[in-house]
Amino acid sequence: MSRYAQVIVDLTSEKVDRAFTYRVPDGLDLVSGQRVLVPFGPRRIEGIVIGLADETGVASDKIRSVEKALESEPAVLPELMRLAEWMRENCHCTLASALRLMIPAQLRGARVKVKTEQVAEIAVLPERLREAEKQLSRAPKQAEVFRRVAAAGSLEAAVLRQEIPGADGALRALAGKGLIRLRRVESLRRPYGAIDGRRREDPVLTGEQQAAADELIGAMETGGGRFLLRGVTGSGKTEVYIRCVRHALAQGKGAIVLVPEIALTPQMVEWFRARFGEGAAVLHSRLSPGERYDEWRRIRRGEARVVVGARSAAFAPVENLGILIIDEEHESTYQSDSNPRYDVRDAARARCGAAGAVLLLGSATPSIGSYMRTMPGVRPENRFRLLELNRRINGRPLPQVDIVDMSRELQSGNHSVFSAKAQQALKSCLERGEQAILLMNRRGYATFVSCRACGYVERCSACDVSMTYHQWDHTLKCHYCGEERKAPDKCPSCGSPFIRYFGSGTQKVEEEAARLLPQARIVRMDMDTTRGKDAHEKILTAFRNGEYDILVGTQMIAKGLDFPNVTLVCVVAADMTLNLPDYRSPERTFQLLTQVAGRAGRAEKTGRVIVQTYMPDAYAIRMAARQDYRAFYQAESTYRRRGLYPPFTVLARLLVTGPTPEETKSAAQELELRLSAFLNESALRQSVVQMRALEAPIARLKGESRWQVFIKTYARGKTDLILEEMERMARGAGGDVRVELEVNPTNMF
Ligand code: ADP
Ligand code: ZN
Ligand code: ZN
Repeated sequence: MSRYAQVIVDLTSEKVDRAFTYRVPDGLDLVSGQRVLVPFGPRRIEGIVIGLADETGVASDKIRSVEKALESEPAVLPELMRLAEWMRENCHCTLASALRLMIPAQLRGARVKVKTEQVAEIAVLPERLREAEKQLSRAPKQAEVFRRVAAAGSLEAAVLRQEIPGADGALRALAGKGLIRLRRVESLRRPYGAIDGRRREDPVLTGEQQAAADELIGAMETGGGRFLLRGVTGSGKTEVYIRCVRHALAQGKGAIVLVPEIALTPQMVEWFRARFGEGAAVLHSRLSPGERYDEWRRIRRGEARVVVGARSAAFAPVENLGILIIDEEHESTYQSDSNPRYDVRDAARARCGAAGAVLLLGSATPSIGSYMRTMPGVRPENRFRLLELNRRINGRPLPQVDIVDMSRELQSGNHSVFSAKAQQALKSCLERGEQAILLMNRRGYATFVSCRACGYVERCSACDVSMTYHQWDHTLKCHYCGEERKAPDKCPSCGSPFIRYFGSGTQKVEEEAARLLPQARIVRMDMDTTRGKDAHEKILTAFRNGEYDILVGTQMIAKGLDFPNVTLVCVVAADMTLNLPDYRSPERTFQLLTQVAGRAGRAEKTGRVIVQTYMPDAYAIRMAARQDYRAFYQAESTYRRRGLYPPFTVLARLLVTGPTPEETKSAAQELELRLSAFLNESALRQSVVQMRALEAPIARLKGESRWQVFIKTYARGKTDLILEEMERMARGAGGDVRVELEVNPTNMF
């Protein structure tokens, strides 16, 4: 029993980012990782023990005592404690905010309680049962309840209440007579209900799958390793994952499988639950707080050793980790954009490295950065080994892809959002009784609303962007801040009635499809139709069950979904992502097109994909049409090297937000001067490609002005030192402006 505890208090301010020493009261036995309640100034707050000692240098009259332990078990495993420390070092965050990732929010502040259930048990010895029953001959309800409980030994009160009306009173009476005992026992909330009998067997792996699995299992046997599995869509990556997870379990170890977003990948959950049953836990933000907390506890206790979850599941308390898998590793959801900012692929690498576990990234379209790490010449400590699945399961062909030049359609007088080819293909697809997917990567109806007489464009009053028209409720919405107003019937500026809608979104595509195919049953899936808790699952399930012929959706329909009856995919406007002012737009376009094309023709029927574009020669579009990842990688990495874009460089910015343009601008310029002085003093200039203070691309957002100090540095330069200084500058900012550091942000608007 140690006398002093080092405690990290649950406050994320920089000022308290250190351990505080507390006395451990007699009789309290603490361990590292345990949550405690401690006095802190005038308050009592929660904290986590990170060290214990018998001596301390702190004067004894300054030391206060730990009030109590919050649980008997440590909440943070030693391995996760080390990971939190790694995050403090590498993600520029406080230890307290890193530790918050390791513990469900529900545990902090005790916002959810352990759920309990009332259970009735027989309180008399078996040989006295008959006698007791006789005693109840004049209370038939009590006799009935007593017999039911006796038959079961013990039974949940809730079940009895359902079976026998009025059981409640009988239970109380029986308990009063000492014939039964009522107890409360802990129970777990289960998010996905009981598993039905459809336990599935593992299929025999194909040669390619087996070769990949063998290599991964070999590494699991010999202390870990890092791998990138690139498999074309429909090549059966999931079965490789499942085989590895089985091996981890056979080794007595655990496994974590990350998916970009659970709601969009219900299949992964289904498959893992069907194969691993109760041994698999699911963690994601759409669970109720109680469910999430209970799943976390099942993992913590070792009852579930397989975890499927979104990004934060990388910090699940799996002891003795054997493998961590990141599916669809190219997805931007794996980067956290708010404090603590981190890329889960890096955090996973740190965790796996320390645990001797295998890290496996999987994708049909790996990110350029990850694929580059498989190249010769990469330092061994950064290197990933490349595994490939080049064939679809059962030799199903990749779908045939046609690129349609939309400027020609316009010339020939077709003003519809669908090309002649797409209209034809849609009709014949539905005539065959098959299903189609229409991808439109923007929700709403029209991109912007403008007056034909004076050119006035409706803009958001709080942001520097145009409003999007939503037809069904005839409103204009800002997609950045949510501002909403009625669409005007005449121009607010000149009064002209000739208001026109330009561009298109999912609603318009849905409407035109309905006009073209009046009999078709159409469902739309975008942010506007999926606000409810299970809205995603409902739409996807209904579509898979054939309740609809056509699914219209944004990129959310592109993720790992398996629709056996879909034989046509039409990408309505492939340029939409290509025209964004972002160096990643070719990569995003390639990924989106490849992924969505992969949804067509996955079963016996062959699939067809139509890509409509005004830029038919763009390499991202041509190579996605051929599903030629390697050619795309070659072209894209050349473009990145020549243009000095990541991963050859690091892009970062100090984002300055303030109430007025003047204040914001002068704060940004001041920061630029200070950063410039720092670069000179510390002789770091040669690490910098470019640096500038300028207005952010969206200069006003939610009513605030935005400026940025943008910097581009060589990835091989002393970037860390520069980022650390920028972090200090951001923290030190005061007055009316806020300053945030962003490193390779997923969006730089
Ligand atoms: P990917 O994630 O690589 O696009 P999936 O993992 O979704 O591919 O697999 C595609 C389909 O092939 C799924 O329906 C899956 O059940 C099936 N499948 C995978 N491996 C095998 C196998 N070895 N034998 C038979 N079917 C398989
Ligand atoms: Zn006008
Ligand atoms: Zn707005």
